[in-house]
Amino acid sequence: MNVTQDKTTALVTGAGSGIGRGIAIRLAQSGYQVAVADIHFEKVQETANLIKKNGGVAHPIKADVSKPSDIEAMVNNAVSEFGGLDILVNNAGVSSAGFIEMITDSEMDRVFSVNMYGVMRTTRAATPFLKKSKRGRIINLSSVEGIRGSGLLPIYCATKAGVIGFTRSNAIELARFGITVNAICPGPIQTDMLAPLIADEKKLNQFMKGVPMHRLGQPEDVAAAANFFASEEASFITGNVLVVDGGMTVKSL
Ligand code: NAD
Repeated sequence: MNVTQDKTTALVTGAGSGIGRGIAIRLAQSGYQVAVADIHFEKVQETANLIKKNGGVAHPIKADVSKPSDIEAMVNNAVSEFGGLDILVNNAGVSSAGFIEMITDSEMDRVFSVNMYGVMRTTRAATPFLKKSKRGRIINLSSVEGIRGSGLLPIYCATKAGVIGFTRSNAIELARFGITVNAICPGPIQTDMLAPLIADEKKLNQFMKGVPMHRLGQPEDVAAAANFFASEEASFITGNVLVVDGGMTVKSL
């Protein structure tokens, strides 16, 4: 066990790259001990090393959030390393695109097992520990695609809309334990998930016409929102769905 007394502890899933890595780094900068989990161990080791190099405290965990047994082990690993858990960030996610008639059962299962069941099971496993915290926080990564429709993304959109419903319901149920539950809906953020769009210059230029700030978001833009929800100052803010999208969802044409 590597306990620093009275330290706030966070667990971030999918912290091996992109937004999850950005959130883990930001939470570590705020002085929290951060357990970083990912299906790819070498990637979270890299995240943990980046945090440690800057004087932060991080513990890498290999976990596939589509596997219930990995989820239990991940939460127990974080708790035994740091002695408790205060902040859970359900960030791990996969994308999926296709016309509905072409989408197989196994593709639906793949996306739901990470984006929806992974979030539900990780929340279930973490809740007993968050209840023991004086300032429990759950931060779920949804998407602007969970608010609006998007052609060829029906399964992804369904999971991200589900995360919003799950967030709001748990905000009600867990308030009595002092746990806040909020969701972040990023717009286009420059990560591996967006690589196919970024690689297609014509498509990207067309897409950017719908983003008033006229730039892609960075993981740090989302990390700032997560850091706020995690902070002491946000203790009365729960059931919120915060859009971080450069104005994309408010633009009509
Ligand atoms: P990314 O692909 O860059 O990173 C996702 C991370 O999750 C990777 O490190 C990957 O290894 C990990 N991961 C994937 N499946 C996993 C599993 N089964 N178990 C554990 N880890 C797993 O993606 P990102 O853009 O950083 O996305 C992070 C979250 O933000 C996702 O939930 C995504 O849906 C959401 N989001 C992203 C964008 C965007 O534009 N990038 C927009 C809206 C929402």
